[in-house]
Amino acid sequence: MTGVHSLLPEGQPGLLVSPVFGAEPYRGVEDLPAYLAVGGYAPLTMRDRLLDRIHAVGLRGRGGAGFPTAVKLRAVRDAPGRAVVVANGEEGEPGSVKDRWLLRHRPHLILDGLWLAAAMTGAERGFVYLSDARAEQAVRHALTERPTGLSVDVVRTDPAYVAGEETAVVRRIEGGPALPTAKPPRPFEAGIGGAPTLVANVETLARIAVMRACPDAAAAVAGAHLVTVSGSGGSTAALAEVPVGTHLKVLADLCGHGRAGAVLLGGLFGGLHGAGWSDLRLDHDRLRAAGGALGCGALHFLLPEDCPVAVATEAAGYLAAQSARQCGVCISGTGALAGSLAAMARGEADDAATDRLRRWSRELPGRGACGLLDAAARVVSTLLAHFPGRIAAHREATCPTCADPAPHDGRRFAVPVP
Ligand code: SF4
Repeated sequence: MTGVHSLLPEGQPGLLVSPVFGAEPYRGVEDLPAYLAVGGYAPLTMRDRLLDRIHAVGLRGRGGAGFPTAVKLRAVRDAPGRAVVVANGEEGEPGSVKDRWLLRHRPHLILDGLWLAAAMTGAERGFVYLSDARAEQAVRHALTERPTGLSVDVVRTDPAYVAGEETAVVRRIEGGPALPTAKPPRPFEAGIGGAPTLVANVETLARIAVMRACPDAAAAVAGAHLVTVSGSGGSTAALAEVPVGTHLKVLADLCGHGRAGAVLLGGLFGGLHGAGWSDLRLDHDRLRAAGGALGCGALHFLLPEDCPVAVATEAAGYLAAQSARQCGVCISGTGALAGSLAAMARGEADDAATDRLRRWSRELPGRGACGLLDAAARVVSTLLAHFPGRIAAHREATCPTCADPAPHDGRRFAVPVP
């Protein structure tokens, strides 16, 4: 069973529960007449004013990197050539459902945000990029209901960890494989057909649409995050909208993970965090300072009896299997990290092997064409930093969990879309 929660203060507009667009979390697909009645798709007369507002409140992209949205919009607007805009709804992290939920339930909010992004950048062409069949159906239907004047194509891809990376998005829309390319150039410099291209996460676009409709609440809208919360032991998973700075303990309690002993952050991108996890707050900068990352906002809680070595081995094995096998350092690096963790799980990693793993986790980040290698390295570095006792225990006795390793298919982290 999956729940949908809002922790936003009463009266604050949000994407799940909104006094502007609806009083209850959406269960079905949003209603176009109701959306129009509250100002949806209203013409944008002063595009620079909206862009300035986005800059002033510091809206950051919700795809994972947290890049300032206004900087990206201005770069695309100011680059030579006719801009293209893309709503990116391909969430490769197995533990995240927010983008598919938005596409399935709030397609007009996303299309409105895409249209606003086109207006701010001068784009005449847009794409919605996704992998989920139900999301595709909802978006195609919404397009027939409300043509925005922007030419929008829907492009479906096969789901994969790297398929939502911005250069992979451009490559797939151009008819190639959904695999990252070397940077530079980044899409905002030369993307689809060589045009400056804004690849924006669908939650980012949805927040732009709400900020336009509720200018007085822009700061609160920019500060709220959609997060997917899941945990081990078959516990309840949930989609929640929470203000920036929310204690992870509050989230864990709300979503039925109050007994958690550790958390895997950012999908697989933010690493494993043990003792002290409950003091962490949902905030890009604070989590980075703690050696983690918010990423796409997916959190997977572990029970005290869960084995962090087993979880890290499963995560690294999944990432190695998902490597696009384009960069030599990623092929050998993810394979080496996953293999060494598997040896650690079997109790076969001596001090020299552990030191080697620590060195790799420092040297490998930033050397692949995308963030997959960084994610695998962070899983390793945080395991080594936060769970030395649990690692040592694997050398002293057989770990019952690791003795029966799970398949590296990401199944442990997968969450059903509510
Ligand atoms: S880092 Fe890995 S997953 Fe990313 S592009 Fe290179 S080979 Fe592919």
